[in-house]
Amino acid sequence: MPTATDSGRIQLAGRTLSLSWLREHATEAAPLFTRAKAEVGHASCLCRQPALRLVIRCTRAGRYHLAGWPGEGEKHQTDCPFHKLAPGLSGRDGYSTHAIRETDDEVSIRLDAPLARTLTTPEQHNLTPNETPEGRSRRALGLLGLLHWLWEETQLNAWLPRFRQRSWWVCHTRLRQQLRDCTINGQNLHDVLYVVPPFTRATADTNTAALETFRSHLGRHGQTEQRGMVLGQIKDVARTRYGVAYRLAHQRTPLYASAALHERATHSYRHAFSQVAAAHGAAPVALFVVERSRRGYLTAIDLAAMLTTAYYIPADSSYEAVMANALTAARRGFIKPLRYDGTDAVFPDFVLTDTDPHQFVEVYGIRGRETYDRRKRTKQAIYQRQGRPLLEWDVAGPLPALAPPEQLRAPSRSEARGRSGHHRPR
Ligand SMILES: [Zn+2]
Repeated sequence: MPTATDSGRIQLAGRTLSLSWLREHATEAAPLFTRAKAEVGHASCLCRQPALRLVIRCTRAGRYHLAGWPGEGEKHQTDCPFHKLAPGLSGRDGYSTHAIRETDDEVSIRLDAPLARTLTTPEQHNLTPNETPEGRSRRALGLLGLLHWLWEETQLNAWLPRFRQRSWWVCHTRLRQQLRDCTINGQNLHDVLYVVPPFTRATADTNTAALETFRSHLGRHGQTEQRGMVLGQIKDVARTRYGVAYRLAHQRTPLYASAALHERATHSYRHAFSQVAAAHGAAPVALFVVERSRRGYLTAIDLAAMLTTAYYIPADSSYEAVMANALTAARRGFIKPLRYDGTDAVFPDFVLTDTDPHQFVEVYGIRGRETYDRRKRTKQAIYQRQGRPLLEWDVAGPLPALAPPEQLRAPSRSEARGRSGHHRPR
């Protein structure tokens, strides 16, 4: 069993450097990357001893960056930026390399919605109509799949005991970093996806200019109609004469949409738009496909939404948001498995990463619905077979004790801690 050492430290061509330095100084470090790629073939992550291999990628633009070695995410320390849950705990497993292709240069993604179309040929929908949802068979990502992939790759679905809070600034920084190293349907993801930047008085003008640049890419350019994507948190939805206006956190310019699209979205992403969840400080984060209207407005033509807590942890229901809040308040380390576009896979609601083996968390929110009860029994049977320790909460009762593992070993302190962790929705 490898031992724990130094998280976030990287060995590159004989030098030991911090990952954050490498990310910020990719150009300065380019000679090191080149040498390591030629001489060793990879970089090493020092979170474990012996060190774990990391892939060195170089984008078409000549930008170097590091990625986890395929299939080794689980071996990294849980607080390492390259850590991933074991196979079988992510919706990503359901996609073939057509959908997400990782090469030496980049990650290329195939989205099932066209982002550009030639005006002389009719629009094509549903690039992948005949696939079954079983196994590694999906050949393109849907919008929710892309949103979940971005959250997972940037570890925004993970929480560590040492965290005190997470702001939109953190989400924006990590997501932008991720976008730089990817292409989508042949275009740079960085160019076609606009992540709403955090608003401050000092950055107001820069933000306006960035949105303007993004907007200028959209619309008709020669024989091509270009669309784009906007990722942000929905603050509120206002009715307009023609449909709805989505107002996003940190951004003055709203996105307009038809009443029909909003109705479809609230139906498909019922929990994300739930008022109950809002009462617990949770709000939807959404990924929109947008067009520029003739008068210059940004109009959403499709969207995917996920409920997130005040610290941007995804949750599948308001009860899960309550559980996620309680886990953060109790200073637990955990990951929320994400299902992407699939609905059938059996995942735990949360995985506690500060226990060994990792404990699964299940929230039982619905009573008396046969399909739900059957699913619950199936899940319990699977976990039992795996000998998996389970932390369960039936929402009809109080939250279970959520004290961190070392406090669980000392009963008197754990009881006090367990209580303080409860009922503190944010
Ligand atoms: Zn590592």
